[in-house]
Amino acid sequence: MDSYLEKLVDDDKLLFYQSVSDFAEENIMPNWLDWERNHQLIPDSAIDLMGDMGLFGTTISEDYGGQGGSQLDLILMGLSLGYHAQSLAITPGAASSLGAKPIQLFGSDEQKQLHLPDLATGKRMFVFGLSEPGRGSDAANPQVRASKVEGGWQIKGEKCWSTNAKWASHVVVHAMTDDGTTCFIVPMDAPGVNYQEMAGKDLWKQSSTGSIAFDGVKVTDDDILGELNNGFKIMVQTLNGGRLFIASMSLASLAFALDKCRSYAQEREQFDGPIGRFQRVQDVILDMDIVLEQGLNWLITLTNQYDSGTLTKESAAKIKIDCSRKASDLLTLAMEVCGGVASLDEFGLTRHHRDLFVCRVGEGSNFVLKSLATRPLMPDITLQ
Ligand SMILES: Cc1cc2nc3c(=O)[nH]c(=O)nc-3n(C[C@H](O)[C@H](O)[C@H](O)COP(=O)(O)OP(=O)(O)OC[C@H]3O[C@@H](n4cnc5c(N)ncnc54)[C@H](O)[C@@H]3O)c2cc1C
Repeated sequence: MDSYLEKLVDDDKLLFYQSVSDFAEENIMPNWLDWERNHQLIPDSAIDLMGDMGLFGTTISEDYGGQGGSQLDLILMGLSLGYHAQSLAITPGAASSLGAKPIQLFGSDEQKQLHLPDLATGKRMFVFGLSEPGRGSDAANPQVRASKVEGGWQIKGEKCWSTNAKWASHVVVHAMTDDGTTCFIVPMDAPGVNYQEMAGKDLWKQSSTGSIAFDGVKVTDDDILGELNNGFKIMVQTLNGGRLFIASMSLASLAFALDKCRSYAQEREQFDGPIGRFQRVQDVILDMDIVLEQGLNWLITLTNQYDSGTLTKESAAKIKIDCSRKASDLLTLAMEVCGGVASLDEFGLTRHHRDLFVCRVGEGSNFVLKSLATRPLMPDITLQ
């Protein structure tokens, strides 16, 4: 990965990328396989280490105790941690791009002062509460409802697929209100909030994914994030940055697979020589190299657009679609290049192969995002 990034980002950014990678290599990855085999989420001690490293505050302003970095820093963190494991990357990644971001973009001064300093250190974590059991792609019409009651609001219903739920202090709940939808900041320890880790999830295995039920949870007007009845805008705008992050993890997995294949193809011998001399094997390796180089170029360009406020939602959707589908298709071929050894967990490819499925479906399924991205191409006939 370094050799591609060297041509695309400044030295200080590259240094940041490398320092995060070294941190993961030294402090986290030595235990990863054990956690995987024991079906264990990332332990709290490792979350604390990431907090100490400043990974939860990458894009939070220094005024609030964060690192004051840009989206480019966050993307470099995604590339760096995602190379090791997507569930490692998504933990601070979702905490930043989906958790803290809505507060940064839409929070009042009081809400920023109340939450951002602790979000920056990882002491607090926010969950992005959009998906529900009955509302996945059709998330604009939540079944979770907030009803006006004396002194505030009462929330009923259930969110699911909530990344980081185990460690979360708050959840931003997207709920139906009288004239639209509204986002509410709800503490996870409020009476009536019940979290359960979703059982049986067989990818992003070390990442927490919860379902969160709201049984008449009381909140006040002060807990409204952004405008009343304009909540979906918050969710959609937040997802633009999140989709860049998903693209970064897709490319990180691809970079891991490329490195694995390159070295294995040179050392594994069959028919009296390394398998890398077979053109079909070379084909796969070169395709991975091309897709990675193109993807990184595109990702850095779009991330710079995000930082300058010019990224369109269509571009964010397109890069997420393209990087996730190409990387996951190529991962299957990468495993074939390596043969039986690719099926061993310690070889690492099965982890990335599995995890890439989330990149295709999470933060908007690719099929659905294709409709969004197609609209400007055929505005008269595509559905709004
Ligand atoms: C590990 C993981 C973590 C997640 N983390 C979060 C999180 O932190 N917060 C959160 O809110 N959500 C989260 N999600 C949820 C994720 O965003 C949803 O899975 C996604 O939006 C798709 O919703 P769904 O799974 O309900 O699929 P459905 O909406 O049921 O759709 C199923 C499939 O039907 C097809 N389809 C549906 N509608 C259309 C259409 N209009 N056009 C074409 N095809 C269509 C697509 O192929 C789609 O994949 C997470 C999901 C996973 C797996």
